[in-house]
Amino acid sequence: MTARILVVDDVVANVKLLEARLTAEYFDVTPAYNGQEALDLLLQQSFDIILLDVMMPGIDGLEVCRRVKSDVRTQHIPVVMVTALDNVSDRIAGLNAGADDFLTKPVDKLALTTRVRNLTRLKALNDELRLRSNTSINAGGENDTKLINVNGDNGHILAISDSVNAIDSLARQLTDHGHKIDVETDPEYVISHLSQPNTYETVIVNLHLENFDALRLCSQIRTLEATRNLPIILIAQKEDKKPIITALELGVNDYILDPFDHNELLVRVRSNIQRKRYTDQLRSEVTETIEMAYKDAMTGLYNRRFMEMHLEKLTKEAIENDKKLSLIITDIDYFKSINDTYGHDVGDLIIREFGKLVEKNIREFDLACRFGGEEFVILLPDTDLRVACYVAERMRQIVAAFPININQKPHIIGLTISLGISTLSSDVKSGDELMKKADNALYKAKRTGRNKIAA
Ligand code: GH3
Ligand code: MG
Ligand code: MG
Repeated sequence: MTARILVVDDVVANVKLLEARLTAEYFDVTPAYNGQEALDLLLQQSFDIILLDVMMPGIDGLEVCRRVKSDVRTQHIPVVMVTALDNVSDRIAGLNAGADDFLTKPVDKLALTTRVRNLTRLKALNDELRLRSNTSINAGGENDTKLINVNGDNGHILAISDSVNAIDSLARQLTDHGHKIDVETDPEYVISHLSQPNTYETVIVNLHLENFDALRLCSQIRTLEATRNLPIILIAQKEDKKPIITALELGVNDYILDPFDHNELLVRVRSNIQRKRYTDQLRSEVTETIEMAYKDAMTGLYNRRFMEMHLEKLTKEAIENDKKLSLIITDIDYFKSINDTYGHDVGDLIIREFGKLVEKNIREFDLACRFGGEEFVILLPDTDLRVACYVAERMRQIVAAFPININQKPHIIGLTISLGISTLSSDVKSGDELMKKADNALYKAKRTGRNKIAA
């Protein structure tokens, strides 16, 4: 997986070094020699990752990071700050500016590849989520890409090590910084435990487990549905380069070298948690956007837009496969007078109750939508006119027989509906024609007395 990387540093030699190493790994590198140039390039071209030096004349790295992270056009691009290891304040400032990760100077080759690969992988997932969100936003006709605000504080962490002693100081340090950490010494138990829904935001695995292959464990964690996106940080020794590389290929996100630098530990944990929260929030916003774009807020049924898109697909499919397809439009009788007599809130309540009733009385593969106001449309795949009329008539009878409780005097309101039905035939051959035919039938039912079905 390749990536376009913007390398920003005012020292030409530093840029050249990073460029050479990244190009050797087949990454596509663009250099920038100051903050302004970087910001300009970011608006002109698309990048997957930014490597950002902190100390630069003019707009420094922290300010560039802040601007990248507060602009909806660039916020999704991961920023890696390149800092001096001993400069704790730079790192804290970087985290506060929204940096996604850190590299220390002089930049270690393995560390560089690890961070860039991990971020590339994560960005590919985030891009896919953003794309889906955009599709549904476009389909819904709205456009408000939101800024996502997350941090990596107060995380819930699982540490796996078969000797508690080995991990004791790590656990204490993380706890001291507000994280909640569970230590588990039995890797077998961990796997059965993690396959259940859990709240962990990062798992730390000791590479040197006495009776268990830590890499196998990592690979199992990566494969489990419940932990597929859970960041894994490996604790390894300096001489473990080979297993570290294998681990990264297996999908491990990061590593910390033991004995660990206190500051490095905190940064690694915090940045992994922060990135997980970003992706999780993006994912939940996508789900939410789809809900918002395709569902009617009042009834939870599909909205008109979705129904129309779906009707086109169903019609095409039914015609191609010589299958039946019917449609019902239903409209509440004299709804205006209900609003006028009991108020708009009661009107709303009745629409909601009626929506529930519709949903309860159709099959799972029928699609009910609120078409507008107190009008609903039901699509019935694989259904001929006779059955559709039967469904419509049953619904009419149920509505007429069960008044709706409105929790205010007179407590219940008797309701009737009229329904128009249509089906695909030699002279009804498109979604539009189905709608028109059913609408005409509904009009006929209304005109000839209401509380009726017509086809
Ligand atoms: P008909 O039997 O011919 O259908 O008579 P009707 O009174 O139901 O007439 P019509 O369908 O034309 O009017 C529907 C009314 O529903 C008009 C509008 O004020 C009201 N309405 C539309 N949407 C809502 C809504 O979301 N909530 C409420 N409370 N009323 C709505
Ligand atoms: Mg009506
Ligand atoms: Mg109406």
